[in-house]
Amino acid sequence: MKIQSIRGFNDVLPADSALWQHLFDTARTLFEAYGYREMRIPVVESIALFKRAVGEVTDVVEKEMYAFEDRGGEHIALRPEFTAGLVRAGIEHGLFHNQQQRVWCAGPVFRYERPQAGRYRQFHQFDVEAYGIAGPDVDVEMIAMTARLWKALGFQNLRLELNSLGGTETRARYRAALIEFLSRHESSLDEDSKKRLHSNPLRVLDSKVSTTQAIVKDAPSILEYLDADSAAHLDGLRQGLADLGIEHHVNPRLVRGLDYYTKGVFEWITTELGAQGTICAGGRYDNLVEQLGGSPTPAVGWAAGVERLILLLQKLDTASLASEADIYVCRFGAQGERAGLALAEAVRDTLGPTARVALSVGGGKPGAQIKRADRSGARIALVVGDDEAAAGTVQVKFLREERPQATVARSELLTQLSGLLSSSVPQR
Ligand code: ATP
Ligand code: MG
Repeated sequence: MKIQSIRGFNDVLPADSALWQHLFDTARTLFEAYGYREMRIPVVESIALFKRAVGEVTDVVEKEMYAFEDRGGEHIALRPEFTAGLVRAGIEHGLFHNQQQRVWCAGPVFRYERPQAGRYRQFHQFDVEAYGIAGPDVDVEMIAMTARLWKALGFQNLRLELNSLGGTETRARYRAALIEFLSRHESSLDEDSKKRLHSNPLRVLDSKVSTTQAIVKDAPSILEYLDADSAAHLDGLRQGLADLGIEHHVNPRLVRGLDYYTKGVFEWITTELGAQGTICAGGRYDNLVEQLGGSPTPAVGWAAGVERLILLLQKLDTASLASEADIYVCRFGAQGERAGLALAEAVRDTLGPTARVALSVGGGKPGAQIKRADRSGARIALVVGDDEAAAGTVQVKFLREERPQATVARSELLTQLSGLLSSSVPQR
């Protein structure tokens, strides 16, 4: 029997890894530039943590968790998101006590969902969080950071939606009004929503079932129930975004799939990925640290779905990122082969260890080697045959532009190479 990958779990192949690296490099550089530092936390945590943080009556905990008993009888789960683990770690290591913390995480998370384009069972998230700051200024800065990330990646036409989920008092009053409204339509609700009508009615607003969606269109708006503190937070958030010229839309039906959110929440949405259009979502969760046993600590954060960002990047022209090398060394003839191998090493010495230099191996006629160079996506081919080896020269061929081929002395080439490369670079 042929063993295959598990449904909803993907491989990233060499042809795509440059895109992943570009995305991770861009994100990491940006997070660090805003003063966020990386944290790495375990892939598994106790089930109890996710139940308490994410909420017992959520899709994530009820239906999507990879939960199991380990050989010692511990009840553990693969992390379905990062926030619960970060808060657990922050409390455990005393990171929240009278301190501000700005942290980020990246890696795989796991949810047992129905796989489709943009929805997988193992997927990756960037997760960025700030603790100990009441906002809304830090919320604004965080959203500005996401906007800057989209710009750095070349994304356009994204829509930013905002809502406020209020504090405990808002939630209690709104919950009652929502239950009252939904009860009047109970018979038309889908089965899940009927079940949640009393246990977690806000989740009904986020139902993906179209008949339920049609009903909740007319549900009361949470914004009419906001407490003064939450209303001031939302106003401050909107004003701050306006000051920075970041366009946004208030959507009073926007709720999040995890129960810990309070006050301002947001989503970035694209129309280019069909039903899986939310690429980034977040908001405030001021009660979570305390709920998990820490001292009261305001917090705000967001997570972006890496695979969805990759799908968007693939729609852009990223040919230069998909290449496997910038320079390709072709060599033929006994002396040419030796000189070519030495040349590739000399180029790496000159340009530094990160220069992307591929060596033609396995022989082949000059024409076939140039074809390989072209397929590699390299911009420059350096060609060395026996004649060049004897003369101490190299032929320089530009593969991506109309530019005459040149024969250059080897020593001269090495001093000119970084200039040649940057002048021939299609912008990244
Ligand atoms: P959705 O409504 O699409 O299920 P969600 O509200 O469950 O998303 P979050 O828990 O907020 O998602 O996770 C943050 C981001 O992670 C989402 O905005 C999305 O980009 C991405 N994401 C969520 N679930 C998946 C999945 N199964 N596969 C790939 N990406 C996902
Ligand atoms: Mg979901």
